Amino acid sequence: MGFELLGLSEPTLKAVADAGYTEPTPIQTQAAPQVLMGRDVLGIAQTGTGKTASFTLPMIDILAEGRARARMPRSLILEPTRELAAQVAESFEKYGKNHKLSMALLIGGVNFADQEKALDRGADVLIATPGRLLDHFERGKLLLNGIDILVIDEADRMLDMGFIPDVEKICERITKKHQTLFFSATMPPAIQRLTKKFLDDPKKIEVSRPATAGTNIKQILIAVGPRDKRKALRQLLRTEEIKNGIIFCNRKRDVKEVFASLGRHDFSVGQLHGDMEQRERMETLRQFKENEIQLLVASDVAARGLDVPDVSHVFNFDVPGHPDDYVHRIGRTGRAGRSGTAYTITTKSKIDGRLVEAIEALTKAKLPIDDNFKLERESRPGRKQDSDDKPETAPDDQDKRPARGRGKQDHRRDRSTERSSRDQKRWPRDRGDARLNMAPDDMPKEPFVGMGPHVPAFLQQDPDKKPK
Ligand code: AMP
Repeated sequence: MGFELLGLSEPTLKAVADAGYTEPTPIQTQAAPQVLMGRDVLGIAQTGTGKTASFTLPMIDILAEGRARARMPRSLILEPTRELAAQVAESFEKYGKNHKLSMALLIGGVNFADQEKALDRGADVLIATPGRLLDHFERGKLLLNGIDILVIDEADRMLDMGFIPDVEKICERITKKHQTLFFSATMPPAIQRLTKKFLDDPKKIEVSRPATAGTNIKQILIAVGPRDKRKALRQLLRTEEIKNGIIFCNRKRDVKEVFASLGRHDFSVGQLHGDMEQRERMETLRQFKENEIQLLVASDVAARGLDVPDVSHVFNFDVPGHPDDYVHRIGRTGRAGRSGTAYTITTKSKIDGRLVEAIEALTKAKLPIDDNFKLERESRPGRKQDSDDKPETAPDDQDKRPARGRGKQDHRRDRSTERSSRDQKRWPRDRGDARLNMAPDDMPKEPFVGMGPHVPAFLQQDPDKKPK
């Protein structure tokens, strides 16, 4: 079935053809005609299924009629993260290029004044994260009584991020009768309650997840000792044929450390985590999308819904704590029908064992373990072995120890993290280390190479100054 059977207008079909799409995905086939008919939709689908176009394409045609008034947007799309909001905005630009729709993007980390100007000009499409939207609303800069279409995207992620109360507030403030399109990859009870409250006889559309379908994603489990995870990751990165890949860690701290470690081993790598400035995140994402960097180390929240087509590999550096996150993570590869590979690095610990079982229960499939995987010796000509290669400096063990009072070995490892200029700047804030005890003026401007954070006081004094 082609796009022309969905009921879309000629200019929209032309934009779709220009995007290179020949056939609609299942969610597009099912959702687009319902949206055009004005019906509420409950889409159980995750990113990678083509769900963004399933609502943007018909919305463009609906909104083509009529004009927005100042501060009264005609449609509102709520997204859990700034990156997703920015991606949806890009989709509107791509698919709406033959229309003259006005758009405003309200996301955190961006100047209020510019956003207010966009609202004043009138927006056919308003794309926002819930917190920032409410900020504008409460400042009286925005009226919600012109909304004809409300989209709540990635609702389960909104739940994980604690945004549901904000979403409810927003829904309650839209008093005009409107159409609601609601998307979620999973339907936990809190989300079901929300759909009952705010959707009016919705058309329910469910498309299978990559994890359950499992046809185009090769999933492999690698079991190593807790001290060998980075080594195992490097081995996979060197032996696999990787176009580009995303490496997921459970904690921000590990994202930073794995990023620094891979950089030190000469991999082309960027990082994405919640402590980064919005500008930095967008820049990293741009570099990754444009293949300027091959690998991206990311946390779940930061990477949620990233629209990076054609990712060849996903690596779970840690087994995710929630099985749903596994589904989301591996959904970054094998998108739009392409094939992909997802490696999960596990340890033999009971916790990892239970987490793997939870994934298997959710996906109703056994995760095949690669019994042939053996750690090989790394030969790095002309280069000293790095601190994190040595078993006694196990990163995973260190993480479990309190940040203060670590042993000597840690100093060597910390040196490695100094190489990232980005992390250098943030180091004192990010790390629970000895520098936190220093007053800001006492802090050395640059890390002391070779000493880690535990720099004896005498080394920080000006050598030319006589001791008092
Ligand atoms: P989404 O699920 O909305 O995040 O979309 C996943 C990816 O699929 C995006 O990169 C889209 O550009 C792409 N895509 C969406 N619809 C189609 C289609 N009908 N054919 C091919 N690719 C598509």
